[in-house]
Amino acid sequence: MFRKVLIANRGEIALRIIRACRELGVQTVAVYSEADRESLHVRFADDDVCIGPPPGRDSYLNIPRLIAAAEITGADAVHPGYGFLAENAEFAETCAASSLTFIGPTPEQIRTMGDKATARRTATAAGVPVVPGTPGPVEDPDEALAFAERSGFPVIIKAAAGGGGKGMRVARDADEFVRNFTLARQEALSAFGNGDVYVEKFLLRPRHVEFQVIGDMHGTLIHVGERDCSVQRRHQKLVEEAPCPVMTPELRERMGDAAVKAAKSINYVGAGTIEMLLDEDGSFYFMEMNTRIQVEHPVTEQLYGVDLVKEQIRVAAGEPLSFPQLGPMRGHVIEVRINAEDPQRNFQPSPGNIEVFHPPGGPGVRLDTHVYTGYRVPPYYDSMIAKLIVSGNTRREAIQRMKWALDQFVIQGPATTIPFLGKLMNDPDFVAGDVDTKWLERNFDRFKDPA
Ligand code: ADP
Repeated sequence: MFRKVLIANRGEIALRIIRACRELGVQTVAVYSEADRESLHVRFADDDVCIGPPPGRDSYLNIPRLIAAAEITGADAVHPGYGFLAENAEFAETCAASSLTFIGPTPEQIRTMGDKATARRTATAAGVPVVPGTPGPVEDPDEALAFAERSGFPVIIKAAAGGGGKGMRVARDADEFVRNFTLARQEALSAFGNGDVYVEKFLLRPRHVEFQVIGDMHGTLIHVGERDCSVQRRHQKLVEEAPCPVMTPELRERMGDAAVKAAKSINYVGAGTIEMLLDEDGSFYFMEMNTRIQVEHPVTEQLYGVDLVKEQIRVAAGEPLSFPQLGPMRGHVIEVRINAEDPQRNFQPSPGNIEVFHPPGGPGVRLDTHVYTGYRVPPYYDSMIAKLIVSGNTRREAIQRMKWALDQFVIQGPATTIPFLGKLMNDPDFVAGDVDTKWLERNFDRFKDPA
Protein backbone atom coordinates (compact mmCIF):
# COMPACT_ATOMS: atom_id res chain seq x y z
CA MET A 1 0.00 0.00 0.00
CA PHE A 2 1.06 3.60 -0.55
CA ARG A 3 2.66 5.67 2.17
CA LYS A 4 1.33 9.03 1.15
CA VAL A 5 -1.09 10.12 -1.56
CA LEU A 6 -1.09 13.60 -3.06
CA ILE A 7 -4.54 14.71 -4.12
CA ALA A 8 -4.32 16.77 -7.29
CA ASN A 9 -7.75 18.31 -6.85
CA ARG A 10 -9.96 20.45 -4.64
CA GLY A 11 -13.51 20.59 -3.31
CA GLU A 12 -15.68 17.67 -2.28
CA ILE A 13 -13.74 15.07 -4.25
CA ALA A 14 -10.48 16.02 -2.49
CA LEU A 15 -12.24 15.45 0.85
CA ARG A 16 -13.73 12.19 -0.39
CA ILE A 17 -10.27 10.91 -1.29
CA ILE A 18 -8.81 12.03 2.06
CA ARG A 19 -11.53 10.00 3.83
CA ALA A 20 -10.73 6.91 1.77
CA CYS A 21 -6.99 7.27 2.46
CA ARG A 22 -7.58 7.70 6.17
CA GLU A 23 -9.55 4.45 6.31
CA LEU A 24 -6.74 2.71 4.47
CA GLY A 25 -4.12 4.11 6.87
CA VAL A 26 -2.50 6.15 4.09
CA GLN A 27 -1.26 9.70 4.66
CA THR A 28 -2.48 12.54 2.45
CA VAL A 29 -1.16 15.73 0.90
CA ALA A 30 -3.59 18.47 -0.08
CA VAL A 31 -2.62 21.00 -2.72
CA TYR A 32 -4.47 24.28 -2.91
CA SER A 33 -4.59 27.53 -4.81
CA GLU A 34 -4.57 30.89 -3.07
CA ALA A 35 -8.36 30.94 -3.43
CA ASP A 36 -8.72 27.68 -1.47
CA ARG A 37 -6.68 28.42 1.63
CA GLU A 38 -9.79 28.05 3.82
CA SER A 39 -10.94 24.82 2.20
CA LEU A 40 -11.68 21.78 4.34
CA HIS A 41 -9.46 19.53 2.25
CA VAL A 42 -6.50 21.64 3.34
CA ARG A 43 -7.50 21.31 6.97
CA PHE A 44 -8.09 17.56 6.88
CA ALA A 45 -5.00 16.43 4.98
CA ASP A 46 -1.82 15.44 6.81
CA ASP A 47 0.27 17.82 4.71
CA ASP A 48 -0.62 20.73 2.47
CA VAL A 49 1.14 22.76 -0.18
CA CYS A 50 0.03 26.00 -1.81
CA ILE A 51 0.61 25.55 -5.53
CA GLY A 52 -0.18 28.97 -6.90
CA PRO A 53 -2.70 31.66 -7.75
CA PRO A 54 -6.40 30.92 -8.26
CA PRO A 55 -6.68 30.26 -12.02
CA GLY A 56 -6.60 26.55 -12.77
CA ARG A 57 -3.73 26.80 -15.23
CA ASP A 58 -1.54 28.30 -12.50
CA SER A 59 -2.51 25.77 -9.85
CA TYR A 60 -4.60 22.60 -10.24
CA LEU A 61 -3.65 22.23 -13.90
CA ASN A 62 0.01 23.05 -13.45
CA ILE A 63 1.87 19.76 -13.78
CA PRO A 64 5.36 20.92 -12.67
CA ARG A 65 3.95 22.47 -9.50
CA LEU A 66 1.98 19.36 -8.63
CA ILE A 67 4.98 17.12 -9.14
CA ALA A 68 7.16 19.45 -7.06
CA ALA A 69 4.57 19.36 -4.26
CA ALA A 70 4.63 15.56 -4.33
CA GLU A 71 8.42 15.50 -4.19
CA ILE A 72 8.68 18.01 -1.34
CA THR A 73 6.20 16.10 0.79
CA GLY A 74 7.47 12.60 -0.01
CA ALA A 75 4.26 11.36 -1.63
CA ASP A 76 4.47 8.08 -3.53
CA ALA A 77 1.14 8.26 -5.38
CA VAL A 78 -1.17 10.86 -6.91
CA HIS A 79 -4.96 10.74 -7.01
CA PRO A 80 -6.33 13.09 -9.69
CA GLY A 81 -10.03 13.01 -8.69
CA TYR A 82 -12.28 14.11 -11.57
CA GLY A 83 -11.93 17.12 -13.85
CA PHE A 84 -8.64 19.06 -13.93
CA LEU A 85 -5.90 16.54 -14.89
CA ALA A 86 -7.83 13.32 -14.26
CA GLU A 87 -7.90 12.39 -17.95
CA ASN A 88 -4.65 14.01 -18.99
CA ALA A 89 -2.27 11.40 -20.39
CA GLU A 90 0.72 13.72 -20.10
CA PHE A 91 0.09 14.12 -16.38
CA ALA A 92 -0.10 10.36 -15.91
CA GLU A 93 3.17 10.03 -17.84
CA THR A 94 4.91 12.73 -15.82
CA CYS A 95 3.83 11.07 -12.57
CA ALA A 96 5.31 7.77 -13.72
CA ALA A 97 8.53 9.48 -14.81
CA SER A 98 8.76 11.00 -11.32
CA SER A 99 8.27 7.61 -9.59
CA LEU A 100 4.76 8.49 -8.49
CA THR A 101 1.94 6.01 -9.00
CA PHE A 102 -0.91 7.68 -10.86
CA ILE A 103 -4.12 6.32 -9.32
CA GLY A 104 -5.86 5.69 -12.59
CA PRO A 105 -5.28 4.01 -15.93
CA THR A 106 -2.15 4.11 -18.11
CA PRO A 107 -1.42 7.07 -20.40
CA GLU A 108 -2.23 4.88 -23.46
CA GLN A 109 -5.61 3.93 -22.04
CA ILE A 110 -6.39 7.57 -21.31
CA ARG A 111 -5.43 8.48 -24.88
CA THR A 112 -7.45 5.68 -26.47
CA MET A 113 -10.63 6.55 -24.61
CA GLY A 114 -10.04 10.32 -24.49
CA ASP A 115 -10.32 10.61 -28.24
CA LYS A 116 -13.97 9.91 -29.03
CA ALA A 117 -13.26 8.69 -32.55
CA THR A 118 -10.63 6.20 -31.33
CA ALA A 119 -12.91 5.15 -28.49
CA ARG A 120 -15.69 4.41 -30.98
CA ARG A 121 -13.35 2.27 -33.05
CA THR A 122 -12.15 0.46 -29.94
CA ALA A 123 -15.70 -0.31 -28.82
CA THR A 124 -16.67 -1.48 -32.29
CA ALA A 125 -13.63 -3.78 -32.42
CA ALA A 126 -14.68 -5.20 -29.03
CA GLY A 127 -18.10 -6.04 -30.45
CA VAL A 128 -19.91 -3.28 -28.56
CA PRO A 129 -22.54 -1.34 -30.50
CA VAL A 130 -21.88 2.36 -31.11
CA VAL A 131 -24.35 4.96 -32.36
CA PRO A 132 -24.42 4.65 -36.16
CA GLY A 133 -21.95 7.19 -37.50
CA THR A 134 -18.92 7.85 -39.65
CA PRO A 135 -16.22 5.24 -38.99
CA GLY A 136 -13.74 7.93 -38.02
CA PRO A 137 -13.10 11.67 -38.25
CA VAL A 138 -14.23 13.30 -41.49
CA GLU A 139 -12.68 16.37 -43.06
CA ASP A 140 -14.59 16.63 -46.27
CA PRO A 141 -17.99 18.36 -45.81
CA ASP A 142 -19.46 16.48 -48.79
CA GLU A 143 -18.46 13.10 -47.43
CA ALA A 144 -19.90 14.05 -44.03
CA LEU A 145 -23.11 15.30 -45.61
CA ALA A 146 -23.41 12.08 -47.60
CA PHE A 147 -23.36 10.12 -44.35
CA ALA A 148 -25.94 12.44 -42.77
CA GLU A 149 -28.26 12.01 -45.73
CA ARG A 150 -27.87 8.26 -45.77
CA SER A 151 -28.52 7.86 -42.03
CA GLY A 152 -31.26 10.49 -41.96
CA PHE A 153 -31.48 13.73 -39.98
CA PRO A 154 -31.04 14.82 -37.26
CA VAL A 155 -27.36 14.07 -36.77
CA ILE A 156 -24.83 15.30 -34.23
CA ILE A 157 -21.39 16.58 -35.15
CA LYS A 158 -18.93 15.81 -32.38
CA ALA A 159 -15.39 16.95 -31.70
CA ALA A 160 -13.17 13.88 -31.34
CA ALA A 161 -11.34 15.65 -28.52
CA GLY A 162 -14.51 17.02 -26.90
CA GLY A 163 -15.70 16.43 -23.38
CA GLY A 164 -17.75 17.87 -20.55
CA GLY A 165 -20.68 18.50 -22.88
CA LYS A 166 -18.60 20.76 -25.12
CA GLY A 167 -17.89 20.42 -28.82
CA MET A 168 -21.19 19.02 -30.09
CA ARG A 169 -23.61 20.45 -32.64
CA VAL A 170 -26.89 19.05 -33.85
CA ALA A 171 -28.04 19.45 -37.46
CA ARG A 172 -31.66 18.92 -38.49
CA ASP A 173 -31.29 19.32 -42.25
CA ALA A 174 -28.68 19.68 -44.97
CA ASP A 175 -28.44 23.47 -44.73
CA GLU A 176 -27.92 23.43 -41.02
CA PHE A 177 -25.46 20.61 -41.46
CA VAL A 178 -23.25 22.50 -43.89
CA ARG A 179 -23.18 25.54 -41.61
CA ASN A 180 -22.56 23.57 -38.42
CA PHE A 181 -19.97 21.25 -39.87
CA THR A 182 -17.56 24.11 -40.59
CA LEU A 183 -18.37 25.79 -37.28
CA ALA A 184 -17.88 22.58 -35.34
CA ARG A 185 -14.44 22.04 -36.89
CA GLN A 186 -13.37 25.59 -36.08
CA GLU A 187 -14.71 25.33 -32.54
CA ALA A 188 -13.01 22.00 -31.97
CA LEU A 189 -9.71 23.41 -33.15
CA SER A 190 -9.86 26.47 -30.94
CA ALA A 191 -11.27 24.72 -27.86
CA PHE A 192 -9.31 21.46 -27.95
CA GLY A 193 -6.40 22.16 -30.30
CA ASN A 194 -7.69 19.36 -32.52
CA GLY A 195 -10.17 20.04 -35.30
CA ASP A 196 -11.22 16.41 -35.86
CA VAL A 197 -14.96 15.87 -35.88
CA TYR A 198 -17.17 12.91 -36.71
CA VAL A 199 -20.85 12.55 -37.34
CA GLU A 200 -23.36 10.41 -35.51
CA LYS A 201 -27.06 9.81 -35.75
CA PHE A 202 -28.82 12.00 -33.18
CA LEU A 203 -31.17 9.92 -31.07
CA LEU A 204 -34.36 11.81 -30.27
CA ARG A 205 -35.27 10.60 -26.81
CA PRO A 206 -32.47 8.46 -25.43
CA ARG A 207 -31.75 7.84 -21.78
CA HIS A 208 -28.20 8.26 -20.57
CA VAL A 209 -27.34 4.99 -18.85
CA GLU A 210 -23.77 4.41 -17.74
CA PHE A 211 -22.07 1.41 -16.21
CA GLN A 212 -19.47 1.60 -13.48
CA VAL A 213 -16.58 -0.79 -14.05
CA ILE A 214 -13.58 -1.59 -11.90
CA GLY A 215 -10.64 -3.83 -12.61
CA ASP A 216 -7.47 -4.97 -10.87
CA MET A 217 -4.00 -5.96 -12.11
CA HIS A 218 -4.79 -9.64 -11.69
CA GLY A 219 -7.20 -9.93 -14.57
CA THR A 220 -10.47 -9.32 -12.72
CA LEU A 221 -12.75 -6.68 -14.20
CA ILE A 222 -16.39 -6.37 -13.21
CA HIS A 223 -19.23 -3.95 -13.63
CA VAL A 224 -20.90 -2.45 -10.59
CA GLY A 225 -24.28 -1.79 -12.14
CA GLU A 226 -25.71 1.20 -13.90
CA ARG A 227 -26.59 4.81 -13.19
CA ASP A 228 -29.27 6.68 -15.06
CA CYS A 229 -28.20 10.27 -15.72
CA SER A 230 -30.93 11.36 -18.12
CA VAL A 231 -31.86 14.57 -16.31
CA GLN A 232 -29.42 16.91 -18.02
CA ARG A 233 -29.20 20.49 -19.04
CA ARG A 234 -26.94 21.26 -21.98
CA HIS A 235 -25.39 17.82 -21.63
CA GLN A 236 -24.58 18.48 -17.97
CA LYS A 237 -25.98 16.01 -15.47
CA LEU A 238 -28.15 17.35 -12.67
CA VAL A 239 -29.58 14.17 -11.17
CA GLU A 240 -28.24 10.61 -11.19
CA GLU A 241 -29.99 7.53 -9.92
CA ALA A 242 -29.79 3.78 -9.76
CA PRO A 243 -31.23 1.43 -10.65
CA CYS A 244 -32.31 2.95 -13.95
CA PRO A 245 -36.11 3.18 -13.78
CA VAL A 246 -36.59 1.22 -17.03
CA MET A 247 -33.88 -1.41 -16.42
CA THR A 248 -34.65 -5.11 -16.46
CA PRO A 249 -32.30 -7.84 -15.20
CA GLU A 250 -31.92 -9.10 -18.76
CA LEU A 251 -31.02 -5.67 -20.17
CA ARG A 252 -28.64 -5.06 -17.26
CA GLU A 253 -26.86 -8.26 -18.12
CA ARG A 254 -26.50 -7.32 -21.79
CA MET A 255 -25.45 -3.74 -21.15
CA GLY A 256 -23.15 -4.80 -18.29
CA ASP A 257 -21.51 -7.41 -20.53
CA ALA A 258 -20.96 -4.80 -23.22
CA ALA A 259 -19.39 -2.43 -20.66
CA VAL A 260 -17.08 -5.16 -19.36
CA LYS A 261 -16.11 -6.16 -22.91
CA ALA A 262 -15.24 -2.58 -23.85
CA ALA A 263 -13.10 -2.08 -20.74
CA LYS A 264 -11.45 -5.50 -21.00
CA SER A 265 -10.49 -4.88 -24.60
CA ILE A 266 -7.98 -2.30 -23.36
CA ASN A 267 -7.02 -4.33 -20.24
CA TYR A 268 -8.42 -1.60 -18.08
CA VAL A 269 -7.28 -1.34 -14.47
CA GLY A 270 -8.98 0.95 -11.97
CA ALA A 271 -12.38 2.61 -11.84
CA GLY A 272 -14.02 3.71 -15.06
CA THR A 273 -17.40 4.41 -16.57
CA ILE A 274 -18.85 3.24 -19.84
CA GLU A 275 -21.43 5.78 -20.92
CA MET A 276 -24.19 4.50 -23.17
CA LEU A 277 -27.35 5.81 -24.72
CA LEU A 278 -30.44 3.67 -24.30
CA ASP A 279 -32.87 4.34 -27.11
CA GLU A 280 -36.65 4.18 -26.84
CA ASP A 281 -36.74 0.88 -28.72
CA GLY A 282 -34.40 -0.75 -26.16
CA SER A 283 -31.27 -0.56 -28.34
CA PHE A 284 -28.19 0.69 -26.55
CA TYR A 285 -25.02 2.22 -27.85
CA PHE A 286 -21.57 2.91 -26.42
CA MET A 287 -20.97 6.64 -26.25
CA GLU A 288 -17.69 7.04 -24.41
CA MET A 289 -15.57 5.81 -21.54
CA ASN A 290 -14.54 8.04 -18.67
CA THR A 291 -11.24 6.81 -17.33
CA ARG A 292 -11.60 8.22 -13.83
CA ILE A 293 -13.83 8.29 -10.77
CA GLN A 294 -17.01 10.21 -11.56
CA VAL A 295 -18.98 12.83 -9.69
CA GLU A 296 -21.90 10.40 -9.35
CA HIS A 297 -19.92 7.42 -7.97
CA PRO A 298 -21.71 7.63 -4.57
CA VAL A 299 -24.94 6.41 -6.20
CA THR A 300 -23.25 3.08 -6.87
CA GLU A 301 -21.55 3.05 -3.47
CA GLN A 302 -24.83 3.47 -1.65
CA LEU A 303 -26.69 0.99 -3.83
CA TYR A 304 -24.19 -1.83 -3.45
CA GLY A 305 -22.47 -0.96 -0.18
CA VAL A 306 -19.02 -0.64 -1.73
CA ASP A 307 -16.33 2.02 -1.48
CA LEU A 308 -15.15 2.77 -5.01
CA VAL A 309 -12.48 5.27 -4.01
CA LYS A 310 -10.83 2.92 -1.54
CA GLU A 311 -11.03 0.18 -4.13
CA GLN A 312 -9.47 2.45 -6.73
CA ILE A 313 -6.52 3.11 -4.41
CA ARG A 314 -6.18 -0.57 -3.52
CA VAL A 315 -6.07 -1.77 -7.12
CA ALA A 316 -3.59 0.97 -8.04
CA ALA A 317 -1.36 -0.41 -5.28
CA GLY A 318 -1.57 -3.86 -6.91
CA GLU A 319 -4.09 -5.42 -4.54
CA PRO A 320 -6.83 -7.65 -5.92
CA LEU A 321 -10.40 -6.36 -6.03
CA SER A 322 -11.98 -6.89 -2.64
CA PHE A 323 -15.37 -7.71 -4.17
CA PRO A 324 -14.93 -10.01 -7.16
CA GLN A 325 -18.70 -10.53 -7.10
CA LEU A 326 -21.22 -7.92 -6.40
CA GLY A 327 -23.67 -8.20 -3.53
CA PRO A 328 -27.38 -7.50 -3.99
CA MET A 329 -28.73 -4.00 -4.72
CA ARG A 330 -30.20 -2.25 -1.73
CA GLY A 331 -33.30 -0.38 -2.80
CA HIS A 332 -32.94 2.81 -4.79
CA VAL A 333 -30.48 5.71 -4.71
CA ILE A 334 -30.76 9.25 -6.09
CA GLU A 335 -28.06 11.92 -6.20
CA VAL A 336 -28.62 15.59 -6.95
CA ARG A 337 -25.92 18.11 -7.70
CA ILE A 338 -26.20 21.29 -5.67
CA ASN A 339 -24.55 24.09 -7.56
CA ALA A 340 -24.01 27.71 -6.57
CA GLU A 341 -25.98 28.80 -9.62
CA ASP A 342 -29.21 30.65 -10.17
CA PRO A 343 -31.66 28.44 -12.09
CA GLN A 344 -33.94 31.43 -12.63
CA ARG A 345 -31.11 33.24 -14.41
CA ASN A 346 -30.07 30.59 -16.82
CA PHE A 347 -28.00 28.78 -14.16
CA GLN A 348 -25.60 31.69 -13.94
CA PRO A 349 -22.84 30.99 -11.37
CA SER A 350 -23.45 32.64 -8.01
CA PRO A 351 -20.22 32.58 -6.01
CA GLY A 352 -19.81 34.31 -2.66
CA ASN A 353 -19.99 33.91 1.07
CA ILE A 354 -22.12 31.15 2.61
CA GLU A 355 -23.84 32.91 5.48
CA VAL A 356 -25.87 29.99 6.75
CA PHE A 357 -25.29 26.33 6.04
CA HIS A 358 -27.60 23.80 7.57
CA PRO A 359 -27.30 20.31 6.06
CA PRO A 360 -30.04 17.67 6.06
CA GLY A 361 -29.57 14.34 7.81
CA GLY A 362 -31.29 11.22 8.99
CA PRO A 363 -31.44 7.64 7.70
CA GLY A 364 -30.48 7.15 4.09
CA VAL A 365 -29.02 10.64 3.65
CA ARG A 366 -25.42 11.19 2.56
CA LEU A 367 -23.93 14.59 1.88
CA ASP A 368 -20.57 14.99 0.12
CA THR A 369 -19.46 18.59 0.40
CA HIS A 370 -16.54 20.81 1.22
CA VAL A 371 -18.51 23.88 2.28
CA TYR A 372 -19.61 25.21 5.68
CA THR A 373 -20.99 28.38 7.26
CA GLY A 374 -18.56 31.18 6.51
CA TYR A 375 -17.04 29.44 3.47
CA ARG A 376 -16.60 31.66 0.46
CA VAL A 377 -17.41 29.96 -2.86
CA PRO A 378 -14.62 31.12 -5.17
CA PRO A 379 -15.59 32.24 -8.67
CA TYR A 380 -12.76 30.37 -10.40
CA TYR A 381 -13.90 26.77 -10.45
CA ASP A 382 -16.84 24.48 -11.07
CA SER A 383 -19.92 25.73 -9.24
CA MET A 384 -20.85 22.41 -7.63
CA ILE A 385 -20.82 22.87 -3.85
CA ALA A 386 -22.46 19.67 -2.63
CA LYS A 387 -23.84 16.31 -3.69
CA LEU A 388 -26.86 15.07 -1.81
CA ILE A 389 -27.33 11.32 -2.07
CA VAL A 390 -30.46 9.70 -0.71
CA SER A 391 -31.41 6.02 -0.47
CA GLY A 392 -34.76 4.34 0.07
CA ASN A 393 -36.20 0.86 -0.09
CA THR A 394 -38.05 1.89 -3.24
CA ARG A 395 -37.71 4.67 -5.79
CA ARG A 396 -40.78 6.26 -4.33
CA GLU A 397 -39.30 6.32 -0.85
CA ALA A 398 -36.03 7.72 -2.20
CA ILE A 399 -37.90 10.55 -3.92
CA GLN A 400 -39.86 11.30 -0.73
CA ARG A 401 -36.66 11.39 1.29
CA MET A 402 -34.96 13.60 -1.27
CA LYS A 403 -37.83 16.09 -1.15
CA TRP A 404 -37.64 16.31 2.60
CA ALA A 405 -33.85 16.50 2.60
CA LEU A 406 -33.93 19.35 0.08
CA ASP A 407 -36.59 21.12 2.18
CA GLN A 408 -34.40 20.92 5.26
CA PHE A 409 -31.26 21.99 3.44
CA VAL A 410 -30.53 25.64 4.13
CA ILE A 411 -27.83 27.50 2.24
CA GLN A 412 -27.98 31.28 2.53
CA GLY A 413 -25.72 33.55 0.55
CA PRO A 414 -25.19 32.29 -2.99
CA ALA A 415 -28.19 31.23 -5.07
CA THR A 416 -28.29 27.44 -5.38
CA THR A 417 -30.06 24.77 -7.39
CA ILE A 418 -31.87 23.50 -4.24
CA PRO A 419 -35.29 25.06 -5.02
CA PHE A 420 -35.11 23.86 -8.62
CA LEU A 421 -34.24 20.31 -7.53
CA GLY A 422 -37.15 20.39 -5.07
CA LYS A 423 -39.55 21.17 -7.91
CA LEU A 424 -37.99 18.44 -9.98
CA MET A 425 -38.71 15.86 -7.26
CA ASN A 426 -42.40 16.83 -7.53
CA ASP A 427 -42.57 16.71 -11.30
CA PRO A 428 -44.96 14.02 -12.55
CA ASP A 429 -42.65 12.95 -15.40
CA PHE A 430 -39.68 12.64 -13.06
CA VAL A 431 -41.77 10.79 -10.49
CA ALA A 432 -42.92 8.41 -13.22
CA GLY A 433 -39.32 7.93 -14.35
CA ASP A 434 -40.39 9.11 -17.77
CA VAL A 435 -37.44 11.28 -18.81
CA ASP A 436 -34.75 11.36 -21.47
CA THR A 437 -31.66 13.47 -22.04
CA LYS A 438 -33.61 16.30 -23.71
CA TRP A 439 -36.61 16.17 -21.38
CA LEU A 440 -35.52 19.01 -19.11
CA GLU A 441 -34.76 21.34 -22.01
CA ARG A 442 -38.13 20.62 -23.61
CA ASN A 443 -39.97 21.24 -20.34
CA PHE A 444 -37.92 23.90 -18.66
CA ASP A 445 -40.83 26.33 -18.45
CA ARG A 446 -42.35 24.17 -15.75
CA PHE A 447 -39.46 25.06 -13.47
CA LYS A 448 -39.45 28.80 -13.94
CA ASP A 449 -40.67 30.97 -11.10
CA PRO A 450 -43.74 33.00 -12.01
CA ALA A 451 -42.50 36.45 -13.10
P1 ADP B 1 -19.14 14.63 -23.28
O1 ADP B 1 -17.89 13.82 -23.44
O2 ADP B 1 -18.94 16.05 -23.63
O3 ADP B 1 -19.82 14.40 -21.97
P2 ADP B 1 -20.86 12.71 -24.62
O4 ADP B 1 -20.43 12.14 -25.92
O5 ADP B 1 -20.69 11.88 -23.40
O6 ADP B 1 -20.13 14.12 -24.42
O7 ADP B 1 -22.36 13.19 -24.73
C1 ADP B 1 -22.95 13.94 -23.70
C2 ADP B 1 -24.46 13.98 -23.85
O8 ADP B 1 -24.83 14.44 -25.14
C3 ADP B 1 -25.15 12.64 -23.69
O9 ADP B 1 -25.38 12.32 -22.36
C4 ADP B 1 -26.43 12.88 -24.47
O10 ADP B 1 -27.32 13.63 -23.71
C5 ADP B 1 -25.98 13.77 -25.62
N1 ADP B 1 -25.64 12.99 -26.83
C6 ADP B 1 -24.42 12.62 -27.24
N2 ADP B 1 -24.48 11.92 -28.39
C7 ADP B 1 -25.78 11.82 -28.73
C8 ADP B 1 -26.50 11.21 -29.82
N3 ADP B 1 -25.88 10.55 -30.79
N4 ADP B 1 -27.85 11.33 -29.82
C9 ADP B 1 -28.49 11.99 -28.84
N5 ADP B 1 -27.88 12.59 -27.81
C10 ADP B 1 -26.53 12.51 -27.74
